[in-house]
Amino acid sequence: MPKQFIDFGAVKAAVSFQQVLDHYGFTAQMRGTRNGDGLEGPCPIHEGTSQDTFKVTLSKNCWFCHNSSCKCGGNHLDFVAKMENCNAHEAALKIDEWFNLGLAGKADSSPQRRDGAPKSSAPSAQQQPMPRQRFNGTSSPAAESKVAEEPQEEPGENVPLSFKLENLKTDHTYFTERGLTPETVAEFGLGFCAKGTMSGRIVIPIHNKAGELVGYGGRWPGQPPEERPKYKLPMGFKKSAEVFNLDRSQMEEKGLPLIVVEGFFDVIKLWQQGFHRVVSIMGSSLSPRQEELLAEASRERSGILLMFDEDEAGRAGREKALVRLARRMFVRVVPLPQEGAQPDHLTENELHALLD
Ligand SMILES: [Zn+2]
Repeated sequence: MPKQFIDFGAVKAAVSFQQVLDHYGFTAQMRGTRNGDGLEGPCPIHEGTSQDTFKVTLSKNCWFCHNSSCKCGGNHLDFVAKMENCNAHEAALKIDEWFNLGLAGKADSSPQRRDGAPKSSAPSAQQQPMPRQRFNGTSSPAAESKVAEEPQEEPGENVPLSFKLENLKTDHTYFTERGLTPETVAEFGLGFCAKGTMSGRIVIPIHNKAGELVGYGGRWPGQPPEERPKYKLPMGFKKSAEVFNLDRSQMEEKGLPLIVVEGFFDVIKLWQQGFHRVVSIMGSSLSPRQEELLAEASRERSGILLMFDEDEAGRAGREKALVRLARRMFVRVVPLPQEGAQPDHLTENELHALLD
């Protein structure tokens, strides 16, 4: 059977190395360097543990492993080929399939390409020092400007995930400790994750306003060990571009106010108590994008109720959000009864007293 044609250049242009790393769930294990353009971490190819052998330059879609067991690098096709133990052609077909590119079997459609011929990926750099230009594939002006223009071409949206975390444990004691019922756990798709970058955490699927899965929040159940944050979001995830639970809250009755809280579990707990028109800004500071999303969402509703944590950060964030939102819609602040209170700790009766 003849090999199915696939344009390597088009595949490389369609998917960034960051997306490939996200596909494998590696990004969160890596540390940002060089003002966000670099990543370094343990090498997934030789499965090393040293934290800085595997280095990535995001703007150039290239990587290199300095460890003697690899000593190689290349572009994202080369990376997938190493990971999958296949050749670059098979790697390109895999990427096409994972990201639903529809490029397999199609002629060259990349506007950047001038020669029109399928071009093979750069050879592996095994045992060779890597000249800087190699990473671009080509140094033509078209390719250079493509790299430079990429940020403008990409509005700051989170790309819907091409995978879903599977085999989550839904009967973890953390849920009972927080007073969540199995129905609520199922409704929000929560679960304990035992593998990958969210290993050891309760994961919370985050959807965009259209209901597409764009990321997972990870909550350490209980007090995290030293140096581990209580909450973790995937590296590169644009929290400021999403309002948690906006999609689900939009399906609720219009004409009722939208309750805005800080945390994932505030939303989940209020939802369980019967307050379904509730969203979270995943923190105490409202981003301009979130402000837009809330303005849009409250258009057919009776304004917004701000129910932030009753602590210093919560009060400061609440004041700023109030000033900005009040220019555009009806906003009411709902102070909580005592210092340190959080919406998810309130009883159903307390919530009704505050919100009805
Ligand atoms: Zn390596």
